[in-house]
Amino acid sequence: MNPTKPSAPPATIVIFGASGDLTRRKLVPALHSLACAQLLSPATRIVGVARSPLSDEAFRDRLYEGVVEYARLKPRPGVCELWPRFAERHAYLAGGYDDPETYRHLAERLAQPDAGAEPGGSGESDTQGNALFYLATPPSLYPVIVEQLGRAGLNRSERGWRRIIIEKPFGHDLESARQLNQQVHAVFDEGQVYRIDHYLGKETVQNILTFRFANAIFEPLWNRNYVDHVQITVAESVGVGHRAGYYEKAGVLRDMFQNHLLQLLTLTAMEPPAVFEANALRDEKVKVLRAVRPVARTVRGQYGPSAAVGSYRDEPG
Ligand code: NDP
Repeated sequence: MNPTKPSAPPATIVIFGASGDLTRRKLVPALHSLACAQLLSPATRIVGVARSPLSDEAFRDRLYEGVVEYARLKPRPGVCELWPRFAERHAYLAGGYDDPETYRHLAERLAQPDAGAEPGGSGESDTQGNALFYLATPPSLYPVIVEQLGRAGLNRSERGWRRIIIEKPFGHDLESARQLNQQVHAVFDEGQVYRIDHYLGKETVQNILTFRFANAIFEPLWNRNYVDHVQITVAESVGVGHRAGYYEKAGVLRDMFQNHLLQLLTLTAMEPPAVFEANALRDEKVKVLRAVRPVARTVRGQYGPSAAVGSYRDEPG
């Protein structure tokens, strides 16, 4: 076990949209690295759900390529040799997102005895009835999946917890975000809902709080008496890559600003929370947001040809 950090409790992680880019490039490489660092319970199971017809084998091969390319801890001798055991715990379920049958099969999977478990063990007892649903599909499908999870009763378990992770974008404006919130709350309690902002996981971002509140040199200086102004810069070294289709619809402001950059703003400007606990931290952030004046002036542009990337207009898609 990792001596400094406890490992996550056992759970079945159900990824919707598992045939997609996010799963292959980010989610499973990250889970693999966590498993290698002994931060994931060995009983963790992963069930990928999507429409594409894939066998368990084909699904695992696809994930393996992603892990080799993108994982921080790669499946290499001397680095991490967990892959065969880790892969064994991945299964794929093909089905429509709006089809009740998909959720019936999923319920069966969640209750199924686990191939790698102790003899006589049940799926429920290995993962203690815990299940985490991760929505990695286009956002238009979020309401459908949430509703079907509720209809199938998968939002509750008598023994363990049920949680849901919702990827960005969370709506495309205030009204649609509120509507999605309502749709989610019709099925899940707030305590079960996790809205992801990857930026908050970045080490530099996490370090802001330590840097501000635990550093004896900076803590007394980080205030309006000594700081003239703060600039928040996101310096990208790559272009939109294969995401031009998405980008053209969302735009850079919706992709980056009201989520990642406002989070950075709140971490930079907030008062120290009374306790380092999620709700207290959130409350301090909200106070900053309430104090922000509407932006008076914006300048927008598109990137042109540079040494690193071509121009935005020349990107495929
Ligand atoms: P993909 O376009 O790769 O979609 C994921 C899966 O959703 C597809 O494999 C597909 O599986 C299924 N799907 C269902 N309906 C459609 C449809 N109309 N068009 C395309 N796919 C469909 O998305 P990503 O994996 O890139 O992203 C998933 C979510 O995460 C999105 O909401 C995205 O905005 C968000 N996100 C992605 C990031 C990334 O780096 N990729 C970063 C941050 C957020 P099947 O056809 O087999 O059902």
